[in-house]
Amino acid sequence: MHYIETSYMTTHLDRLLFSQGGQCFFCRKPLPKAVASVEHIVASANGGTSDDDNCVACCKALNHLLGSKSIKEKLQIVLNQRGNFQCPGNVCAPAATAPSTITQKAAPKPAPTLGNGASAPIDLVLADLKKRGASRPRKVSTLASTIKALLKQQQRTNTDAEVTGLIAELQNRGKATITDTKVTYKLG
Ligand SMILES: [Zn+2]
Repeated sequence: MHYIETSYMTTHLDRLLFSQGGQCFFCRKPLPKAVASVEHIVASANGGTSDDDNCVACCKALNHLLGSKSIKEKLQIVLNQRGNFQCPGNVCAPAATAPSTITQKAAPKPAPTLGNGASAPIDLVLADLKKRGASRPRKVSTLASTIKALLKQQQRTNTDAEVTGLIAELQNRGKATITDTKVTYKLG
């Protein structure tokens, strides 16, 4: 198969990207042209042509990794990802969405909320305090360690900040009043 490159036609890479819907051939994520390159399925070094039927668009990092490996080795690399192919370097994604994903992951844990159908931590704390009756912690420090132990028991990851937040929530709800180091309760 031959094509004639003329000045008004798009480049080889442009055409491959267009026919692949702007996605990487391997991982199917949006592939910005800046990181895209033409991968020869049968490597040029192994006699592969630059015809469209021997070429795909993928990111430069993967192209470099595949290099002039044999078709068998390339297939092995693809199959080893078990249908969940990720390009090396994770560059095959629009620049606009990539940083926000990273920011979300790095962001601190949000305030305690309902998750996975379980009770919110504040409800767990209130239920536990009610159950304790007269033996409720009377000092802030004891209340903090009680909450910490309770969250741990529920196999929730907890931080000192979350414990402090829960004590503040108890006060906001008027369930606990703190005077110096002492706590009194109005659990109702
Ligand atoms: Zn990719």
